Amino acid sequence: MNTLRSVLTQSEKDGVAVGHFNVASLVMLKAVLSAAAETHVPVLVGASEGERDFLGTRQLAVLFKSLRDELDLSAFLNADHTHSLAKAMEAAKAGFDAVVIDFSALAFEENVARTKETVEAIKAINPAILAEGEIGDIGTGSEIHETAQNGFKSLTTPEEAMQFVHSTGIDVLAPAVGNMHGMLKSMVQGTMKKHLNIERISQIKEATGVFLTLHGGSGTDDDDFRRAIAAGINIIHINTELRVAWRQSLEESLAREPNVVVPYKILPPVIDSVKRVVSSRLRLFNAPEQTGQDGLIDPSHKKAS
Ligand SMILES: [Zn+2]
Repeated sequence: MNTLRSVLTQSEKDGVAVGHFNVASLVMLKAVLSAAAETHVPVLVGASEGERDFLGTRQLAVLFKSLRDELDLSAFLNADHTHSLAKAMEAAKAGFDAVVIDFSALAFEENVARTKETVEAIKAINPAILAEGEIGDIGTGSEIHETAQNGFKSLTTPEEAMQFVHSTGIDVLAPAVGNMHGMLKSMVQGTMKKHLNIERISQIKEATGVFLTLHGGSGTDDDDFRRAIAAGINIIHINTELRVAWRQSLEESLAREPNVVVPYKILPPVIDSVKRVVSSRLRLFNAPEQTGQDGLIDPSHKKAS
């Protein structure tokens, strides 16, 4: 089986990105993996500390591997937003393929020191594990926000990105480039889209040369995604869009059959609904710029960037 590193290297050569989708239940896990099976592209399954606490870190790893092997997928498991050495080591020991080490709320020097210590500890457990570090503020909470959060305009600079990568030994960097966690109500309704600073992504890629992750991708303009991938983004996180689809379809499914109490009759439409969101994002992230692999050539590609 391919390693996550080799999959990312190949994706970069092909001008595409690997989609990362968070799961908080078996319904979500089945939705993400069946979308990967349908689209025949690699996928990253993520679980934050809160999601891992709910599912069980070791239990999720076992369930994930069982489904991945049965479906014969190029799928990888990521411990998303991990805020302590102990939680990072727990995920590495459970067999996760990658860990997002998130001390981004701390001052820069403290973030460097804690991240470096954690990178060394998880690589001692599994030398092939990929360590991701984060600098800058992209807000917290993959949920629906009433108003834009403070600080989401302050972007990571190429200089601090280079210094952070070199002093921590991370394999992947999560910068703040106009992205933010969660969605505003207007984004859920589709009347507003997130926009990214493509120039800054190029500068950070140039300065660091490492893989780059875009967090908080939900609600981002499709063309910004394409240009971000061309500028050097390798992994794109989508969470809130899945949660919105999960809740809406669950409410619809429950309302449709008020007297049904059988979970395996209520939940399949929810899996389908979340799966459609994941499949559509995977198709977008895996269509190389200009070539229109999926047969859809977007005229906006001709727009000067
Ligand atoms: Zn994130």
